[in-house]
Amino acid sequence: MILSEKIKAIQPSATLSITSKAKAMKAAGEDVIILAAGEPDFDTPDVIKEAAVAALKQGQTKYTPASGTKSLKEAICSKLSKDNGLSYDIGQIVVSNGAKHSLYNALQVLCNPGDEVLVVSPYWVSYPEMVKLAGAIPVEIITKKENGFKLTAEEVKGALTKKTRALIVNSPSNPAGVVYDKDELKEIADICVANDVVIISDEIYEKIIFDGKEHVSVASLSDEIKSSTILVNGVSKSYSMTGWRVGYMAAPKEIADMVSTFQSHATSNPCSISQAAAECALTTDLDEEIEKNRKMFQDRRDNLIKNLSENAKLKPFKPEGAFYLFCDVSACGLDSLTFAKRLLEEKKVAVIHGGPFGEDGFIRISFATDMDTINKGADRIKEWVDSL
Ligand code: PMP
Ligand code: GLU
Repeated sequence: MILSEKIKAIQPSATLSITSKAKAMKAAGEDVIILAAGEPDFDTPDVIKEAAVAALKQGQTKYTPASGTKSLKEAICSKLSKDNGLSYDIGQIVVSNGAKHSLYNALQVLCNPGDEVLVVSPYWVSYPEMVKLAGAIPVEIITKKENGFKLTAEEVKGALTKKTRALIVNSPSNPAGVVYDKDELKEIADICVANDVVIISDEIYEKIIFDGKEHVSVASLSDEIKSSTILVNGVSKSYSMTGWRVGYMAAPKEIADMVSTFQSHATSNPCSISQAAAECALTTDLDEEIEKNRKMFQDRRDNLIKNLSENAKLKPFKPEGAFYLFCDVSACGLDSLTFAKRLLEEKKVAVIHGGPFGEDGFIRISFATDMDTINKGADRIKEWVDSL
């Protein structure tokens, strides 16, 4: 069978495939510790579930506008105004099946064959693959642990060519938990604006941020930057709604219109019930719950770092946001794929190897799970590393 060159050029999502393999092992009765999943371990708040039940009972079971319901878009505009100091009108919002889908749509609409999209390494596994699916070329800007895995404006400048179409910024980031401050973002964004490069700002981990750091939404830094930015966010991580599949973008009207047209042929609207649930998440005061979870993630991070650091061969990088620990395992003498494979087979601990994130000497350990499981997992990792 002849398959497209596009599909042959991409790899399955390592984060999703390893997580589902580990879940299947656990379901089959194996004593597996899963530190792979990129989803909060707690359930969606009841109030959100009730809103979904009410929507179902009221018969909200039909197609909605392809780009999302008016009331959800209004809720998103209010959220962007309240949390991020940004003023958008509903014509600039497109609701999609998760932030992943919003990012995919953005790249489909922006890129022509051969265009280049700047991706900061280590990156979330799906960025380069989505860029390739849009017919464009992912250009990696490699950042170093010694520099806090941070991208600088100079590095962006150095990577620009006539074909550079967009830069994907992710703060707080997956997998290293990097958080950019206002000045850092402004310098990077100004270079993009000056060179007609669109900033795709993935803000999905906005609410999971540590040590008093504040999330800065790059579009809020100037009107020019806002006009060059596609802001992407969603409800998956903040409200523990990964399975509901609701994400959104806020963008210049011209882009939002094109994305809406694209989506109208590709998937139509995201699930009507999930949209009602997302609207409830964004319009209910859940600040206390979000703060409680944020603190819990911070405690888990601190505990995991302390525990792993007892073994000198494991060198964790301290994340300032999100719920992943990117850990240097290069002193263990194995490449990260072999490390992760053997760790799962021999010690039944699931983590993700660093290769698909662009950093082969590292593994990504998720701390989106309870403290007991984290401790058990860390103990097993230390024990196993000692036995190598
Ligand atoms: N961006 C990043 C950096 C992520 O880690 C994820 C996790 N799935 C997403 C976007 C997409 O989230 P979702 O599609 O569930 O909204
Ligand atoms: N984003 C999460 C992760 O990195 C969920 C899986 C995915 O969509 O990649 O694990």
